[in-house]
Amino acid sequence: MTTTTFSSTSPLDGSVVDTFPVHSPDDVDAAVDRARRAAASWRALGFAGRRRVLRAWRRDIVAHLDDLISLVRAETGKPRGDARLEIMLTLDHLAWAATHAPRILRRRRVGSGVLMLNQHASVGYVPYGVVGVIGPWNYPVFTPMGSLAYALAAGNAVVFKPSEYTPGVGAWLQRAFVRAGGAADVFAVVTGFGPTGAALCRAGVDKVAFTGSTATGKAVMAACAETLTPVVIEAGGKDALLVDEDADLAAAAEAAVWGAYSNAGQTCIGIERVYAHAKVYDRFVEAVAERTRELRAGTGDDATLGPLTMPRQADVVRAHVADALARGATPRVGSVPGAGTTVQPVLLTDVDERSSAVRDETFGPTLVVNRVASMDEAIEKANAVRYGLSGAVFSKRRGRELALRLRGGMIAINSVISFAAIPALPFGGVGDSGFGRIHGTDGLREFAYPKALTRQRFPLLTLTTMRRTATVDHIVERIIRALYG
Ligand code: NAD
Repeated sequence: MTTTTFSSTSPLDGSVVDTFPVHSPDDVDAAVDRARRAAASWRALGFAGRRRVLRAWRRDIVAHLDDLISLVRAETGKPRGDARLEIMLTLDHLAWAATHAPRILRRRRVGSGVLMLNQHASVGYVPYGVVGVIGPWNYPVFTPMGSLAYALAAGNAVVFKPSEYTPGVGAWLQRAFVRAGGAADVFAVVTGFGPTGAALCRAGVDKVAFTGSTATGKAVMAACAETLTPVVIEAGGKDALLVDEDADLAAAAEAAVWGAYSNAGQTCIGIERVYAHAKVYDRFVEAVAERTRELRAGTGDDATLGPLTMPRQADVVRAHVADALARGATPRVGSVPGAGTTVQPVLLTDVDERSSAVRDETFGPTLVVNRVASMDEAIEKANAVRYGLSGAVFSKRRGRELALRLRGGMIAINSVISFAAIPALPFGGVGDSGFGRIHGTDGLREFAYPKALTRQRFPLLTLTTMRRTATVDHIVERIIRALYG
């Protein structure tokens, strides 16, 4: 059994929020074993029984909302308003997954084709068993719940390893599940650092849902490869917002500022780059700069942005801004952040496309705005990074066309990040942003494997026999020629 512990500390004042065990590989194995035993009864509850528990869980979270908001604020440092918004969106997903799981996952009949007319064919979705969920700290409720709610609704037990920066939020969600009548082993939490997450990948779980950085995603996938354990990887992003010459500039500026700076820029689907058409570039930059100057990062209740949650992220922000400036960028608002984790918003324009502020995930309150001569150039530049998570397009006439050409799993037209709040839409990316989907129909099916069944209703043209006659072959050939000739 584990004896080592670690503490989560608040980015607001460095105080200890709570202390947790560093779970060892043996502890993780034991949690997965218990989850496997509990999984059978969770699955046996059926869709209706699970829906009852998940709805009670939702009500419990609402009943203790202020408590959860305070804990999210304490562990991440984000303003209360941001914590509240994150939880509201999560509740919508929890409701959607519980309500729609039966319709999406229940066994359904499919056509059996002319040659197999005598077969009744159907497909149903079977829960994997035990799903290991590994989460980040930036949205400690919303992000893991995209896997937790959908995996549980699909009939799996879950062992969750929250980020070492937000273990308290993970443990809180588990306690709420138990208060709502869920079994403690159906949704278990293990705490610790990277090695605890790595142990979860190797503990015999039937699937891993990972959300975090691209580098860790690769390590998770390598660990899962040892046992051919399937994975969902929700990794980083470098999302772009495109501004066309006919865009509503005030709306685009508002969206760019919110997309870039909310949650102090620590949003996987945050906007880190803007490509604005030369005809509107100057006016757009002015509108963004004006709004950026209104923001203030701090630890007090009046701050619009909190401090960065992870101290070393401030070094990344400093390095990216310094690199951009060294390559000739213009600092329109702010400049290289000073020491500490309270980082004031930075707006850079005319940034060299080779700089790290354009190519790599910054994950801080910075925004790059570059001028383009055409929307074709905007698309080309936006798509020239390894990431492909999400994006946004502001255009009156060409929104749909540009959105379809922008690389990424989720694109918003004339708004930003709105897809994340629509539970029916799948969430996930391509390239270095990962693969697989949470949310929506695809998100439910990610946590269940399709199982095909055929039942012979009456004998007809039996093809799978060594005694098949030449007449049968002849008939089959005639059918094939008639159908496909
Ligand atoms: P991270 O990769 O450092 O950590 C994520 C989780 O993985 C943590 O729980 C960590 O303890 C665990 N971990 C670390 N090493 C591990 C290993 N070897 N094996 C297994 N688990 C291990 O990421 P982070 O700093 O917590 O989160 C920020 C990153 O997450 C950003 O890149 C952001 O873009 C990304 N993110 C992506 C999404 C999405 O849905 N695509 C959502 C939120 C955050």
